[in-house]
Amino acid sequence: MASPVVKADKPVFRGPRGPVPYVARWSAEEVLPAPLVETRQGIAYADESSVDRDGHRLLWTRVSSCPGVGEPLYRQMHPLRQRRAMRRLLCQVCARPADHNEDGTLWLISDQPHRWPGWPRRAQMTQPPLCLRCARISVRACPSFNRDHLAIRAHSFVSGAWGGLYATGWPNRHPLLTGAHTVQFDDPRIQWLQADQLTRELTDCTYVDLDA
Ligand SMILES: [Zn+2]
Repeated sequence: MASPVVKADKPVFRGPRGPVPYVARWSAEEVLPAPLVETRQGIAYADESSVDRDGHRLLWTRVSSCPGVGEPLYRQMHPLRQRRAMRRLLCQVCARPADHNEDGTLWLISDQPHRWPGWPRRAQMTQPPLCLRCARISVRACPSFNRDHLAIRAHSFVSGAWGGLYATGWPNRHPLLTGAHTVQFDDPRIQWLQADQLTRELTDCTYVDLDA
């Protein structure tokens, strides 16, 4: 078990590569059994309880919560901590409020080989924002990360979710997994999504020099 370094009221776990991001999943955090069934509206759990859905009625993947136990899985995010950071605009590393000013919240966005006109406006973010200190540490600690990511400030709104999208298995009551997709709240397919990550859509975007 990694030892937490307590700063203020937030425990920050340290791994071999420095502080472990708040949103990172740990190897002891397991995906729990969740038997899916098909309903008239979409998908549900056969043994669903009130904690399986959020205020948007999204059905969430069940993952146990024990941060700091086992090894940090840097490439995976824990659904509950990712959701909390996205909803409240918390820094994905230290879980304190992300940096924010009149131009919006601070984000690091991965560069796109195929940018659309106006990019990154309308980008659907799954990586939560950052505070200035953690953003600077992230880009300095990893040259390839710095090369592939741009720092921006943007306003945003919670737009939907990313996860496993199902389709009807009619006449059986077993829905069929079609793949991993981002689905927005105004898309009826949202009822068929087993959500893993909350998305925010960026609106007004400004490029930022983190060293300025
Ligand atoms: Zn931070």
